[in-house]
Amino acid sequence: MTRRVSIFGATGSIGENTIDLIARDPSAYEVVALSGGRNVKRLAEQARSLNASLAVTAFEEALPELRALLSGTGIETAAGPEALVDAARRPADWIMSAIVGFAGLPPGLAALEQGTTLALANKESLVCAGPLLMATARRHGARILPVDSEHSAVFQALVGEEMSAVERVIITASGGAFRDWPLENLPDATLAEASSHPNWDMGQRITIDSASMFNKSLELIETREFFDIAPEQIECVVHPESLIHALVGFNDGALMAHVGPPDMRHAIGYALHWPERRELPVARLDLAQIATLTFRPPCTKRWPALALARTVMDIRGLAGAAFNGAKERALDGFIAGQIRFTDMAGVVEDVLDTLSAKGGLENAAITLDAVREVDQVSRIYAAEAIEARAASTAGLRR
Ligand code: NAD
Ligand code: MG
Repeated sequence: MTRRVSIFGATGSIGENTIDLIARDPSAYEVVALSGGRNVKRLAEQARSLNASLAVTAFEEALPELRALLSGTGIETAAGPEALVDAARRPADWIMSAIVGFAGLPPGLAALEQGTTLALANKESLVCAGPLLMATARRHGARILPVDSEHSAVFQALVGEEMSAVERVIITASGGAFRDWPLENLPDATLAEASSHPNWDMGQRITIDSASMFNKSLELIETREFFDIAPEQIECVVHPESLIHALVGFNDGALMAHVGPPDMRHAIGYALHWPERRELPVARLDLAQIATLTFRPPCTKRWPALALARTVMDIRGLAGAAFNGAKERALDGFIAGQIRFTDMAGVVEDVLDTLSAKGGLENAAITLDAVREVDQVSRIYAAEAIEARAASTAGLRR
């Protein structure tokens, strides 16, 4: 029986890895919808080769080119945020949510409303609207399967276990590009330096977020929301080899670790075939050759984003949306050369302080409208905080 699948963010790193798996067994899948951004050439190629029913670009201005590229194929085309939501409503048995950033939330929610299985790579959805996402899944009998490697690892370590026996969850962090840099050099880190990851091959934004550990911060919050465990039960440890993805500690002292190569096709494939395990084209580890696995505590001087994640988990409510919105805007500012690498955390902290002082983040009802509003407002405050710092970036090394 063929399975109907849709892939949101098909042209990105997770999307391409998902397609790599699906394309190995084309007769098993019927591709309903694929989405991408400005790279419509690649989106059109994917839609043709997988014979998708629909290809959607997130950006209206890219539609004429997408249409031209797919003319005569019978593949439908559409553009814009509303079209993404409509595409997510098209019946499918399995939907990959791999858009980067807040933009992944509305199509993710729409997918859950059709009661499907949502493979969730877009961690921003859980950070901004965890309770809304989980409640929507419950209400519609939908299932969310984690695709972030750490969360897939925890999910796998929990198979057959009782949550009441879980003492703690330990998320590992590679430490990213700057884990061994002298602290005093961090303010001068360039975009190119921040965009290279020692172990994983990922999209540019998440790679920079790995260097700043904003990615790990999002993942701590994601752990809290997905597994519904208390913030004090969630730990983070730096593990430069990136071979243990996460560990679950139980009340009898046992630690179950998930070990595997740094290849996202494992977590994607696990979500694709769940509840079965099927053979996947990932490398098999030779432990004797690896010889050592190392760990160190995360330093919040180097990675202040980790401390901010704790604040967000304590406030909860709409704090995740504020954190993510400010983080996305601060990242835009760093990519555009408006602020230094080390300014990003300060910008996010300023926004959290401002919005907390105004009240309304705690105990707020998490509706899509409320989350959208906080996302917008936090970006505006972040832009102001960036402006305030811009003067100090005059001599920035690019
Ligand atoms: P990427 O930048 O490689 O790809 C992002 C995709 O989203 C592309 O298809 C792009 O066209 C699309 N997109 C960009 N802006 C958009 C917008 N405004 N509206 C709609 N679509 C838009 O990103 P990625 O590395 O594949 O990451 C995707 C998601 O998966 C992120 O949430 C990331 O945190 C998460 N994730 C990625 C990895 C990884 O290994 N890459 C690992 C774990 C989690
Ligand atoms: Mg991860």
